[in-house]
Amino acid sequence: MKIKEIYEKKQVLSFEIFPPKRDNALKNIDETLEVLCSLNPDFISVTFGAGGSSNNNQTIELAKKIKNDYHIEPLVHLTCLTYDKDEIDNFIYELKESGIENVLALRGDRNPDIKEKKEFLYASDLTSYLKSKSELCVAGACYPECHPESTDRIGELKNLKKKVESGSDFLITQLFLENNLFYSFYEDTRIAGINPPISAGIMPVINKSQIERMISLCGASLPEKFRKIINKYEHNKEALFDAGMSYAIGQVIDLLANEVDGIHLYTMNNPKVAKKLCDGIKSLI
Ligand code: FAD
Repeated sequence: MKIKEIYEKKQVLSFEIFPPKRDNALKNIDETLEVLCSLNPDFISVTFGAGGSSNNNQTIELAKKIKNDYHIEPLVHLTCLTYDKDEIDNFIYELKESGIENVLALRGDRNPDIKEKKEFLYASDLTSYLKSKSELCVAGACYPECHPESTDRIGELKNLKKKVESGSDFLITQLFLENNLFYSFYEDTRIAGINPPISAGIMPVINKSQIERMISLCGASLPEKFRKIINKYEHNKEALFDAGMSYAIGQVIDLLANEVDGIHLYTMNNPKVAKKLCDGIKSLI
């Protein structure tokens, strides 16, 4: 099923997981998938290594497992900086053979150690190519606090509009810890004539190094109320886990009450996180 059709009917719930690093670890992901699928999400997305890593064939394997064993719609992430058109054609073929209908088209992060092929410069180039070559439902990424390379919000919105005009059927945001940032971004997209549904990306923060890494990588800001939680509980692992989970669940409750199009939960393949999240929201959706 094409995920864009689900947004027409309801608030969409989705999870994100990544393929395990070790080749033989796919079976170990079942514990997380069992918890996640018990909540009957509308889709589960599977990340993809921007550097063209050999782990990337695990992305499609894991997506197939989600579809065939758990009967949940998968969304396959695909980055484009390091691929040429022939390689993307192969992906399209593999997705078709696997019965996968949904792709999140991404540019991928720039990395001086990774050779770019220059055939796809932006996610919009990949989106229009996928649309011209297939029947895939194509999603795009967006950034309530701006992409780290952007210099201004208006430029960022103009680029997002180009991406949507190239064919994005729906959007998923980078994680954020302050819902008001999302509400104001959403309003700006509508003013700019960017109309596809947008799922709000939420990641439970359960340890201090995770939040520091996250902020340096994606530029999400740390609200004062969350900084206080970290300062109080940084040396108490269990308390920080509980506080981080409650904070994320609080964000989800507020977003649902504000009638967002969808919630996308970054679960970090952690069954304990998945279980606590699912327990916290199961009666709400
Ligand atoms: P783009 O939409 O191409 O934007 C990148 C930058 O270029 C932005 O600053 C934008 O404003 C600018 N830009 C866009 N179009 C133009 C234009 N025409 N002219 C000038 N400037 C332009 N990374 C992975 O490696 N694997 C994953 O699985 C993965 N999953 C993700 C899932 C989500 C929900 C999100 C939000 C991000 C994910 N990322 C992933 C990270 C993503 O690859 C990086 O953030 C990357 O730097 C940008 O990707 P993009 O698709 O948003 O790029």
